[in-house]
Amino acid sequence: MPKKAATKKEVPTTPKGMHDVLPADMAYVNLITKESKRVAEFYGFGHIETPHLEKTDLFLRPLGDTSEVVEKQMYSLRTRGGDRLTLRPEGTAPLMRAYYQNGMASWPQPVKLFYAGSFYRHESPQALRFREFRQVGVEAIGDDDAINDALVIRTLVSSLQVFGVKEITVNINSLGDKTCRPGYHKELVNYYKKHEEKICRDCRRRVKENPLRLLDCKEEACAALVGNAPQMVDHLCEECKKHFSEVIEFLDEMQTPYFLDSHLARGFDYYTRTIFEIFENDTEDKTALGAGGRYDDLGELMGAKKVPAVGGALGVERIINVLKKKGIKPRADAKPRIFLIQLGPEARKKSLTLMEELRKIGVPVAQSLSRDSLRSQLNIVNKLEIPVAIILGQKEALDGTVGLRNMETGVQETLSFDKFIGTIKARLKEFS
Ligand SMILES: [Zn+2]
Ligand SMILES: [Zn+2]
Repeated sequence: MPKKAATKKEVPTTPKGMHDVLPADMAYVNLITKESKRVAEFYGFGHIETPHLEKTDLFLRPLGDTSEVVEKQMYSLRTRGGDRLTLRPEGTAPLMRAYYQNGMASWPQPVKLFYAGSFYRHESPQALRFREFRQVGVEAIGDDDAINDALVIRTLVSSLQVFGVKEITVNINSLGDKTCRPGYHKELVNYYKKHEEKICRDCRRRVKENPLRLLDCKEEACAALVGNAPQMVDHLCEECKKHFSEVIEFLDEMQTPYFLDSHLARGFDYYTRTIFEIFENDTEDKTALGAGGRYDDLGELMGAKKVPAVGGALGVERIINVLKKKGIKPRADAKPRIFLIQLGPEARKKSLTLMEELRKIGVPVAQSLSRDSLRSQLNIVNKLEIPVAIILGQKEALDGTVGLRNMETGVQETLSFDKFIGTIKARLKEFS
């Protein structure tokens, strides 16, 4: 037998940049998922789920070979059968795939979809940037009307406001389309060529391959050049200009605060016309809580028929961070107000029946059935700050009664076992 190397026993941990979501944080995740879904459904978006793994090709062309995500950040694998698969780095391309694959073109257009889930990018971990991160998002596929752009933005903004993030600004820009963007590209390239000795190595390559991404570079020297760079809004064709001003008009109408950010750019090749990022006001931290845009050319990039579409998403971890800073706590709606204390084998058996009865009438109840001392159970009641205790002791089990103790006043009532559920039901407000 091969000798096992003498290694120190290591406690298993999560992969770098990924973490467990513990119950306290999960309450935030659930709040965000539930409320954003409710808001999205109000605006007509239906819930969809797509696989976490997609064929690698799905992301290659749409995101752009030169995009940072494709260049460095995709988690790709080869299956035993030889398929090349990738953990989804974003939500839009999978939803477009689902649109074509499920024949949604024959549904009433636009098809409006809501999604929530985890996405994966192999980024260098830093504050609020994780390799597994959660997003909630909406997409309106199959219609190029500017009202859809405004509706997508409004849905995301309304969600944030429901969570308790009230003061919001939407930074918005138009990237134009195939008609007007090439002319702008040329001007952008000319501008950066004049400053070629100042820009970073990546940007020198971007000048040739993907000039729009020059505006997105985080290197200090490159970022300093953005201010005087030519602006897309000055180069929009008539159609794009009209579309953009309609989006703005609709946002005005829906009283959605926006800021025209003429140098706003986004990381993926598939964006056309409207792009936006959503920020909380008065925060020093300049990370967007959400972002998105129109992607009329994505379908074609995927090798399918052209289908105009627009969408956007919110970053769940970033929102949780903001809610915590603001002291906003998710309401734990299932937090029990009753604790069931049982003492002795007979009582323990009866408490199982009682729990089932309480569950049926929708009263959450906490318990620690593996404990048998009164003191250890009372300790838990106090720790959880539960105001009412049901006491089922040996005496009660014999008498066919149940004790109901108000933990704040110490007053205890004795109720008959048979009438107990009826009494609780009649006083439901006290207990749920
Ligand atoms: Zn650069
Ligand atoms: Zn145009």
